Amino acid sequence: MPEGDTVRRACAQLEHHLAGQPLTVAELRWPTLAGTDLRGTTVVTVAAYGKHLLIRLDNGWTLHTHLRMDGRWAFVAPSGPSKVRYSPQTRVVLGTSEWLAVGLSLGMLDLVRTRDEHTLIAHLGPDIMADDFDAEEAITRLRAFSGTIGVALLDQTNLAGIGTFWAAEGLFVRRLDPWRPAGEVTADQLDALISWTRRTMLAALTTPIQTSTGVSAPGRNSYVHGRHRQACRRCGTPIAVAQIGPPTKERPMFHCPRCQGVARD
Ligand SMILES: [Zn+2]
Repeated sequence: MPEGDTVRRACAQLEHHLAGQPLTVAELRWPTLAGTDLRGTTVVTVAAYGKHLLIRLDNGWTLHTHLRMDGRWAFVAPSGPSKVRYSPQTRVVLGTSEWLAVGLSLGMLDLVRTRDEHTLIAHLGPDIMADDFDAEEAITRLRAFSGTIGVALLDQTNLAGIGTFWAAEGLFVRRLDPWRPAGEVTADQLDALISWTRRTMLAALTTPIQTSTGVSAPGRNSYVHGRHRQACRRCGTPIAVAQIGPPTKERPMFHCPRCQGVARD
């Protein structure tokens, strides 16, 4: 699932490939945007907040997208293979004379006035990837959450940008039980958890693949996430996975039952 670091990568790539030149291609394959023509406008900047991407245009409008569960952006030369452009998963194609940016399986696409962007993100907690990240505010929101710490971290209204990968990795590194009530985790524990997660997510921006261990090789890039039944890197216990969250909103939470003191296993 795309998380804050993945969204930041997409943000930088979109700006690099599109900004500064008029759009010659703008196909919006989204029911509410049918008939909208953005050709001739120019991408000024691309911003990210949590898992939201904001593509700002020089006509005062922002194209807002969200990667949701498995969205991604691909970049191809206009003269290159057209397979990705015409994929059934393609929701948007933005292009200049040099590049086509293709948004696949996006979970959200809409146009808002740039001056109204704040209405899209007003409900979110502090963005963990932001330069001016407010850790204190995030800790206050997490501790006030009535649920487990695992769910609190995934709830974007407490803290924006964390998904199942980073929640599982941070809780393991800080030896916290994902099923512990959020209000029972101390402010110091949350501070250490958030600062490790933020630091490691920022470091992951410069590595070839998402990694929490510092190793970019597939299979070695995580401590617990995606490692069901494999030996814990710390104690050797088989890594477990269980669903966390309310019915219909459950998500997989990988963990080491021993290191994290998870009694339910
Ligand atoms: Zn362990």
